Amino acid sequence: ATITEITKQTIERINELDPKVDAFLAMNEEKAMAAASEMDTAPMEQRGPLFGLPIGVKDNIMTEGLVTTASSRILEGFNPIYNATVVEKLRAAGMVIVGKLNMDEFAMGSSNENSYYKKTRNPWNLDYVPGGSSGGSTAAVAAGEVPFTLGSDTGGSIRQPAAFCGVVGMKPTYGRVSRFGLIAFASSLDQIGPVTRNVKDNALLLQAIAGHDEKDSTSADVEVPDFAAALTGDINGLRIGVPKEYFAEGVSESAKAAVYDALEVLKEKGATVEEISLPHSKYALATYYLLASSEASSNLSRFDGIRYGYRTNKASSLLDFYMNTRAEGFGDEVKRRIMLGTYALSSGYYDAYYKKAQKVRTLIKKDFDDAFKNYDVIISPTTPTPAFKIGEIIDDPLTMYANDILTIPVNLAGVPAISVPCGFEGDMPLGLQIIGNYFDEETVYRVADVFE
Ligand code: GLN
Repeated sequence: ATITEITKQTIERINELDPKVDAFLAMNEEKAMAAASEMDTAPMEQRGPLFGLPIGVKDNIMTEGLVTTASSRILEGFNPIYNATVVEKLRAAGMVIVGKLNMDEFAMGSSNENSYYKKTRNPWNLDYVPGGSSGGSTAAVAAGEVPFTLGSDTGGSIRQPAAFCGVVGMKPTYGRVSRFGLIAFASSLDQIGPVTRNVKDNALLLQAIAGHDEKDSTSADVEVPDFAAALTGDINGLRIGVPKEYFAEGVSESAKAAVYDALEVLKEKGATVEEISLPHSKYALATYYLLASSEASSNLSRFDGIRYGYRTNKASSLLDFYMNTRAEGFGDEVKRRIMLGTYALSSGYYDAYYKKAQKVRTLIKKDFDDAFKNYDVIISPTTPTPAFKIGEIIDDPLTMYANDILTIPVNLAGVPAISVPCGFEGDMPLGLQIIGNYFDEETVYRVADVFE
């Protein structure tokens, strides 16, 4: 098939399925078709492994000339004048961007219910959430609407919805992928990563988007290896640590059993498995919600109604204008984070909350540093439970936050981790989380590939 035909079929399939799944916020039909027909003229020797293939992009990633809202009212109709670095890299790889994907507003949430625009549904059961915040990205792949998407992960937002939707989602090492053009939530934690149906595709897509970028001062100047070449099938002698804290209360029996089964498979292939301790795990959730909210309160101060998107029409003074724009433009969860973060950073409370949380973050990172002296990967369930029903816990933020209890420590440390499908609870999929050492995505992929 030509690239034009593939693109057209992909758009038709999205038009057919998306009224049920509601994963896409905006389609890029005209430009995608134009790009496809141009690519059809490229000589074969210029075509890499992803050339001409369709991809969807999470809506917090800037796409020039294609509306980018981060699922917020405050960015309604916002049309970026430049591309994120990852988008430039997708184009360089010859991928065709077919549309933008729904998410929790500003990536705050675990269910996609915090989008201003719509609620994405889980393709495995349309009454269930797809997870979040990259739920649009994982649902679109799970439904077979598109084989590749990009998500972003600040505390689990790629891995948790990947687990809930039964797809493969990778959060790379902090610094591996440029954040230039990613609408910031918590800059010291945010990473863009690939969502795919299988591990090989995932490795290829990370390969395409990774690498140093002068436009992101936190992007790491380290070599990008050939991730797909790491899929040798050989894990003989691999040392696996299994943190006991990740199997504690709240983690369902099926989620534990699925991981134990997976560990047996790895042992048969020559890996050794030992229980380990990451003793500061219990502080991760509190540390994350202080630090992520603090950074968010600062990052989101730029949305003032002057430069971007939505502005109020009810104002009698400048202060009124700012306050009403933000009151009308931000949703409840975003306001909750701004208030929490502003409080944690305010004078008199800074030492007790923000600074203390930074110190605990260092201890959590040290847990991982110590573990990776003796182990090649760390394995756990991705989430304590499978997907829940739409509406079931949206009014209970603390229960919602607990969804990320097993993914958040990874962001605080900055190490890479993947979620791959691993069994079911009832009819809903579960995920296996494989955590690697800094910049060792290769080993993570090699282990993940065992489950293909
Ligand atoms: N669910 C977490 C939160 O709401 C993580 C979000 C994310 O990784 N972007 O903050």
